Amino acid sequence: MHRKNEYDVIVVGAGFAGLTAARDLTAQGLRVLVLEGRDRLGGRTWYREFPGTDRRVEYGGTWVSLQDMHALAAEVRRYGVGIVDQPAPRSFIWDTGGTRRAHAPIPAGELGAAEQFLAELHRLMESTPGGAVVAGNDVSAGEVSVADWEPTKRLPAATREFVLAWAAMYGGCAPEEVSVLHYARMMAEFGNRATSLYDGLAQKFTHGTAELAEALWADSGAEIRLSTTVTAVVQNDGGVTVTTGAGTHSARRVVCTVPLNALSRIRFDPPLPAAKTAAAAVGHPCRSRKVWARTTGVPEGLFALGWGGPIQWLSNEYTLEDGTSLVVGFGYDGDELPLEDPARVQAAIRQFAPGAEVLACDGHDWEADPHSDGAWSVWGPGGVSAGHVHAFDDPHGLVYFASSDLARSWPGWIDGAIHSGSEQARKVAETLGADSREAITR
Ligand SMILES: Cc1cc2nc3c(=O)[nH]c(=O)nc-3n(C[C@H](O)[C@H](O)[C@H](O)COP(=O)(O)OP(=O)(O)OC[C@H]3O[C@@H](n4cnc5c(N)ncnc54)[C@H](O)[C@@H]3O)c2cc1C
Repeated sequence: MHRKNEYDVIVVGAGFAGLTAARDLTAQGLRVLVLEGRDRLGGRTWYREFPGTDRRVEYGGTWVSLQDMHALAAEVRRYGVGIVDQPAPRSFIWDTGGTRRAHAPIPAGELGAAEQFLAELHRLMESTPGGAVVAGNDVSAGEVSVADWEPTKRLPAATREFVLAWAAMYGGCAPEEVSVLHYARMMAEFGNRATSLYDGLAQKFTHGTAELAEALWADSGAEIRLSTTVTAVVQNDGGVTVTTGAGTHSARRVVCTVPLNALSRIRFDPPLPAAKTAAAAVGHPCRSRKVWARTTGVPEGLFALGWGGPIQWLSNEYTLEDGTSLVVGFGYDGDELPLEDPARVQAAIRQFAPGAEVLACDGHDWEADPHSDGAWSVWGPGGVSAGHVHAFDDPHGLVYFASSDLARSWPGWIDGAIHSGSEQARKVAETLGADSREAITR
């Protein structure tokens, strides 16, 4: 005899997937417990003060596009959360192919080659309508890394490095590690626009991502235990027992929203089947390093992209009252870009702003963080053909998986987390409803 389950559902993780799932499940009248390893909500989003200032900035997920990201847009509307347009850059630096350009992103002599490249990219987008992996559509041509894709290799130097810089920025990894198909899917979701790499980061949260996370939580009747890391998920007849450092809890179902790269830290009994184990073992390669720096000497509204240095993408986001700037940069190499070393960060920023002085810098190492083991998800070459992309669509017995990493729509984005959380919550609520009807009939 198993003991009576304490909860209908235990949700593991209080990022956007977990918060959405908990909100939707409690809305169905279900008794829900959320177990969260960190001491806060929001997971891979984190809106907090930059040290020494009263300016709060995003250390994780930030930009959204309400016109393209419908699950997110619906939640923003529902709770009246503030959204602001990303200000248009006021100046540009493009540093690829050994030349620094302040206006045109690529040299005029390479425009024809760039157009051919875009045509190849659009052909791939056609194989993945709206970003979906459609049965019968051959997407194998895109299952190669951006660096190794023939159309990339054919490009002249400045445009090739322009492509590599974007790939590294959005992949949070070397361009050898992320597939062209991943980008084709993303651009297809952005309405078949390759230019979405530039203008897709259209908006951000006026009061930070925390406002939406808190709104979701306030609307949920779930219980929560923070600073409670789950170590084991064991299924028995009729329920699931979840082990944490502080004891065990039981429920009729579990929704596990632990990031793909951190899943192997949890013991599942029975063990995950082969396809899920393989996808978790491969994981995603994104180890993006997002660094914030308080600076002088960086032009206001500067937007920069470049190849060959530790930072691929730089944006001067805020001017503080004392005239200093808060500048954000993205790189992927931890040795090259230590997040808390002002001298090294200054050297990296000077690729784009030679007069930059860094007064302080900060960032969160998402790769070293055991609750994420990486940043956002991107798919490597072969990820679709090997079945990793859809390996967690179906539950493992009574355990369901939701995460931005596993989302069928907007994987790797906040929208994907919301979409995945509500999709899996719906499935759980349906099966629990079916269970209850069965129990009543018996
Ligand atoms: C640097 C960075 C920049 C980004 N930029 C953007 C952007 O501009 N736009 C955008 O849309 N997205 C962006 N993202 C991605 C976006 O933030 C994530 O995809 C999304 O927030 C993930 O939500 P989630 O709920 O799936 O996972 P998470 O937010 O990771 O939530 C999972 C939760 O599970 C918890 N957990 C993990 N292991 C355990 C355990 N064993 N027991 C209990 N709890 C556990 C974690 O602490 C976490 O709270 C960015 C991410 C990063 C890191």
